[in-house]
Amino acid sequence: MKIYNTLTRKKEEFTPIEPNKVRMYVCGPTVYNYIHIGNARPMIVFDTVRRYMEHKGYEVNYVSNFTDVDDKIIRKANEEGVTADEIAKRYIMECKKDMEGLNVRPATKHPLATEEIGGMIDMIQELIEKGHAYEKNGTVYFRTRSFKEYGKLSHKNLDDLQSGNRSLLVSGEDEKEDPLDFVLWKPKKEGEPSWPSPWGDGRPGWHIECSVMSKKYLGDQIDIHAGGEDLVFPHHENEIAQSESANGKEFAHYWMHNAFLNIDNKKMSKSLGNFFTVRDIEAKYDLQVLRFFMLSAHYRSPLNFSADLMTAAKNGLDRIHTAVSRLTNLASQADGDWKEGEKEAIQAPLQALAAKFDEAMDDDFNTADAISVIFEIVKLANTAVTEESSKAAVEEVRKQILSLCDIMGIHGEVKEELLDSEIEALIEERSAARKAKNFARADEIRNELLEKGIILEDTRQGVTWKRA
Ligand code: AMP
Ligand code: ZN
Repeated sequence: MKIYNTLTRKKEEFTPIEPNKVRMYVCGPTVYNYIHIGNARPMIVFDTVRRYMEHKGYEVNYVSNFTDVDDKIIRKANEEGVTADEIAKRYIMECKKDMEGLNVRPATKHPLATEEIGGMIDMIQELIEKGHAYEKNGTVYFRTRSFKEYGKLSHKNLDDLQSGNRSLLVSGEDEKEDPLDFVLWKPKKEGEPSWPSPWGDGRPGWHIECSVMSKKYLGDQIDIHAGGEDLVFPHHENEIAQSESANGKEFAHYWMHNAFLNIDNKKMSKSLGNFFTVRDIEAKYDLQVLRFFMLSAHYRSPLNFSADLMTAAKNGLDRIHTAVSRLTNLASQADGDWKEGEKEAIQAPLQALAAKFDEAMDDDFNTADAISVIFEIVKLANTAVTEESSKAAVEEVRKQILSLCDIMGIHGEVKEELLDSEIEALIEERSAARKAKNFARADEIRNELLEKGIILEDTRQGVTWKRA
């Protein structure tokens, strides 16, 4: 499996630190509003990376934080006259609902910055002791030039950065030793949340949060650190400086960054009026369509959101659903093991396509190519699988499509919701079948209900049911 590493600007073979295990950290959103569809891109992309790695047999420890203390959260709290904590809790809950709609699985751990302040103080203290940080009037700064490899991720040169900052240096207004130094701890301001520290009451800078949460839940060294491309500089560059200076080890082996999502070829922004939350989209489309649309491009290519492209994504998804539904119907009528000729006409091309899917995903998670392979299997299903096919063949093709869709986090079939009255009618039919000693039909009904997520229980009082 090859991964494009921002650090080396090359596709590299993936070798985990521990065999068969992946330690992965994805920078999560700052929770001051509903997430927008740009924020959804890294969630969907890296959830798909995780799913694919699990398909390859890796055990993935996936950590993704919520930044729940930040200027934007405080501003929103002041606007509404509520606490910052209330704003953060509300939008974490809303974000989790959006993730569920997008079929983004919960992380192994979702740490909250405000619950990890002790660890941040410890790391800042360690950085001061090692000469990488210093305090001035209640603010602690990282001494950027003390980390010799600063700039290695963003491929920026310290001297170029320095000249870009010359005005600050000349003005003499800055209390920093060097304009390149960045904040690790800032002193409390009236009306803001704060925590006690050796440097007075205050709150942590944004970058230190991720260094600390990653270390606590994944260890000093991790396999993959990921986020949107805007985080390369300064956020991830600063995380590297902090973590490697404190721990004395390389922080993350592979750095993955998704490109941005634009709207009608323009940067999404509130002032341009082209800003969509996931909720806005959900009012018009099934969120599965949004996920399918996001995966139709390579994660390192900029992606343009438009109504036309969403319609194309919807049509593509419908094509898969229609093929699966046809296979489900065929399977209920077909029977028997593989027939003469089917192995050559169906099984062999199916296996070749499954291998082609893995090849696309092994090449730096090329989901665009992987989706075209799913369409090739759909075509095979629509042409080679017929009423004449054996049950074994029909089921294998159906299973393959569903399993590849599942790696993409896409539901390959539309689950029909049964109405209560329909369930009760089927239960009655089953009781009648049992009375008539037609146990085959009774079992068939039980299984049919089970497939639709309805669980039956035979009690002394009669049959009860519940939705799974
Ligand atoms: P934020 O809450 O701004 O820290 O963003 C959370 C995540 O969303 C980060 O990984 C960002 O890089 C990513 N992100 C923000 N805007 C976009 C966008 N328009 N397209 C893709 N990713 C984005
Ligand atoms: Zn981060």
